[in-house]
Amino acid sequence: MAKPDLILLALDDSPILQLMERALRASNYEVAIVSDRAGLDKVLQSSTPALLLIGEKFNGQAGIPLAVEQLERFPTMPILVYAEKDAPSIAKEVLRANLTGYLYPPLRTDDIVAAVGRSLDRARHLGDWIRREVRRTTASLQRQVNDFEAIFVNMSDGIIILDKSSRIILVNEAVRTAFGVTASVVGQPLLDVIKHPDIRSLLERAASEDLKYHEINFDDGRVFNGQFTIIPEIGSAITVQDITYLKELDRIKNDFVHTVSHDLRSPLTAVLGYAELVSRMGTLNDQQQEFLRRLQASVQDITGLVNDLLDLGRLEAGFDTRREVVQLENILDYTVNILSGQAEARDVKLRVERTPHLPPLRANPIRLRQMLDNLIGNAIKYTPEGGEVKLCLRPEDHQIILEVKDTGPGIPPADQPHIFEKFYRASNVPDNVPGSGLGLAIVKSIVDSHQGRVWVESHPGEGSSFFVVLPIYEAGEVVR
Ligand code: ADP
Repeated sequence: MAKPDLILLALDDSPILQLMERALRASNYEVAIVSDRAGLDKVLQSSTPALLLIGEKFNGQAGIPLAVEQLERFPTMPILVYAEKDAPSIAKEVLRANLTGYLYPPLRTDDIVAAVGRSLDRARHLGDWIRREVRRTTASLQRQVNDFEAIFVNMSDGIIILDKSSRIILVNEAVRTAFGVTASVVGQPLLDVIKHPDIRSLLERAASEDLKYHEINFDDGRVFNGQFTIIPEIGSAITVQDITYLKELDRIKNDFVHTVSHDLRSPLTAVLGYAELVSRMGTLNDQQQEFLRRLQASVQDITGLVNDLLDLGRLEAGFDTRREVVQLENILDYTVNILSGQAEARDVKLRVERTPHLPPLRANPIRLRQMLDNLIGNAIKYTPEGGEVKLCLRPEDHQIILEVKDTGPGIPPADQPHIFEKFYRASNVPDNVPGSGLGLAIVKSIVDSHQGRVWVESHPGEGSSFFVVLPIYEAGEVVR
């Protein structure tokens, strides 16, 4: 048999209390009576009454505020108020407080039992409805979780979700396959589970900079692109995507460009050679000389382009391994010397500011010259007549910083992220300024291969500053 409902009576001792107790017990309810606040709290803590009947005046206290307090703690418990006499103000208060109802004399046994029965029925309906709603919402949430899990597990991109201390919350199938993870890994530190050095450096980079992407290279030739995203309140997510086929396409394209450039070089040298021979074969009239000059200039432009492409190919293939201990200021002086004629011809002032006794670098001097040539050459080329190019060299914190600052046209913000890409020329380049868009790509490759950084700061109309930061040679380091 079901346990009888417990009715809690919080009423001062009186004949009506005894009447209620008797009536309810006779109707098979269990009854508990409390005479003060402490007793009320105790019963509510130790058991779950099906209904509370409280006096409008209880133990010298106002009963309705006490009832409201209990309703906040037990929102589904029906609460009836008993008042010694009917008054509209009490009815209003009971309604406003959202209590179940109120009783007042004259009261017969039947009235008491009926009021309690009705209140319990209503509460039961409400309870059933709440349970149904909870079941429905839970089922819908469960469906969503299942859908999410299916998407997550079957996605071809790998996903790792980490908590704030880089322990694994979730990994999907693609990650397991890519990194050969078989065991259950939830709760373990990521770096204990996936020991790949590129994942370690991805986490290190993500901690110190705004990481956009990071390459993960496998010994068998696979290449993945890893991305790191902070997830507020939870931790972070790493997504990994197989880009092996893109890398392969890039390699085929580079091979193609390299082969074509290489094959173009010999015929170009021949054209230049023959062009030179023409003038030796007899006197040319002015127009013939002008045509020959244009021909030579064009062939030289193409030769320059081909040489740049071959250079980039070599740099990108990682062939630039020559390293010596060099003083950057000596290379700078040399370059400035060579380019000063060009600057003078364009009426551009070249100024050098450098800290004396700079620490040496471990670098390939030929590549550094090429880097300076391109940066200073650009500054002179893009600065209008009468302008100035300032070159600054200073040491800072185990590195040397080079700044090439000009009073040229500047670079529009939308172009700035792209100017180090191959063949990219900004939208404000005047038509009469020659160039292929390869110079800065070469600069970037050279700086990268020296573990440095290069960037530009520029405002259109206010000139540009190119910065290069290179690590200095630390005594004891091995130079190869
Ligand atoms: P380019 O052969 O066109 O000079 P670069 O790769 O050297 O190619 O430079 C890429 C682009 O960056 C240039 O086309 C130009 O738009 C911009 N640029 C480079 N240096 C400067 C500079 N000092 N002032 C203004 N724009 C510059």
